[in-house]
Amino acid sequence: MTKVKKFILSEKEIPSQWYNVVADMKSKPMPILNPGTKEALKPEDLYPLFTEELARQELNQTDRWIDIPEEIIEKYKIYRSTPLVRAYGLEKALDTPAHIYFKNESVSPVGSHKLNSALAQAYYCKQQGVTNITTETGAGQWGTALSFAAKMFGLDLAVYMVKISYEQKPYRRSLMQTWGAQVIASPSMSTKAGRKILTDNPTYQGSLGTAISEAIELAMQTPNCKYTLGSVLNHVSLHQTIIGLEAEKQMAMAGEYPDIIIGCFGGGSNFSGISYPFLRYNLTEGKKTRFIAAEPESCPKLTRGVFQYDFGDEAGYTPLLPMYTLGHTFAPAHIHAGGLRYHGAGTIVSQLLKDNLIEAIDIKQLESFEAGVLFARTEGIIPAPESAHAIAATIREAIQAKEEGTPKTILFNLSGHGLVDMSAYDQYFAGDLVNYSLSNEDLAKNIKVLEKII
Ligand SMILES: *Cc1c(COP(=O)(O)O)cnc(C)c1O
Repeated sequence: MTKVKKFILSEKEIPSQWYNVVADMKSKPMPILNPGTKEALKPEDLYPLFTEELARQELNQTDRWIDIPEEIIEKYKIYRSTPLVRAYGLEKALDTPAHIYFKNESVSPVGSHKLNSALAQAYYCKQQGVTNITTETGAGQWGTALSFAAKMFGLDLAVYMVKISYEQKPYRRSLMQTWGAQVIASPSMSTKAGRKILTDNPTYQGSLGTAISEAIELAMQTPNCKYTLGSVLNHVSLHQTIIGLEAEKQMAMAGEYPDIIIGCFGGGSNFSGISYPFLRYNLTEGKKTRFIAAEPESCPKLTRGVFQYDFGDEAGYTPLLPMYTLGHTFAPAHIHAGGLRYHGAGTIVSQLLKDNLIEAIDIKQLESFEAGVLFARTEGIIPAPESAHAIAATIREAIQAKEEGTPKTILFNLSGHGLVDMSAYDQYFAGDLVNYSLSNEDLAKNIKVLEKII
């Protein structure tokens, strides 16, 4: 029998609804709070920042299925379905009885899964008559995805890019400019928040917290303008469920069902996207699939953080989110998986972890690059440093399966490729990368700050 390598859906098999896992959760996430009044947020409270439909999606706990508008599906067809691939090469190198599959989100035009939500957010802005949008970007993946999405729906986009990345990652900046976005190094003189920081400290290299403040400020001051975010929030995870819903159909084509599902973890959007559609069978039919979120050792909010109300940003501008967190003042080490350097986690994923419905592990930086290189040499695709954390976790499980002699079926999400991250690989090959472990004292410092919040 010839072995099938990859499974692809026809255009009409692309799912037409996203899956809202909250509807099936017995213990719902705790409410998001207004930081001033400490009252539960209502959709209207979010209207100044987000479009009405996205605000409703954010707080929707009852509708299991949300229709994907036809205009978004038309854009999804540019790159969806993404292939589900059997990693025969990796299996052979590991000499494992496990069957390893990966969902290849790196084939999107921007090279990562982030486009799944960028297209949806841009569409709802357009539909509500919004003309301008703003955002921030750290490593540049989200800004890149949103640039393409804004162009698709005819919106003007301003991206505040953390200054150090703006200088060190010139190609992500070029991608954004090619798709027509205005990219501003943050801190900048274009906002009050930026001007204040630059006046106090003219050589400041920027942070995500500052970039968020600038993007929010510009959105509030520009007529017909909204702010957008690429991870953490519930509506972002909702849009990403297209990944798992496709994978469900594709695993059926392969005649298998996953025992273990793995995603790397920054704020939770790609992990949620691959996991929630399968998790619904654990929640509603008693299936026992394991879900593993793989986070970096240097930013261990799921494995070593606390479950607490905290701000989503460094500056403390966002509503209060009940989540696993290292504290919004936590400054993660400069690992190369820039997309995983976030102090908190989405509220849904946090509740699921608290209820032991999913698991989390941490991966050292060097283990992630070793895994990424093995994957490149066996499957051909050079993974994003973020995605390499999911590959490392997969390798651990495949080796475990070999030791136990059990033919487990493992599915992981390849969230993006690493072709714009080759300087990180260069440093790995030069022996210049190190692991960053955190002492309990270092962790306790930033968590202590949270006691004052609630
Ligand atoms: C942004 C990013 C991540 C991390 O974000 P999540 O919201 O946790 O998915 C992971 N992989 C890639 C390629 C990214 O761009």
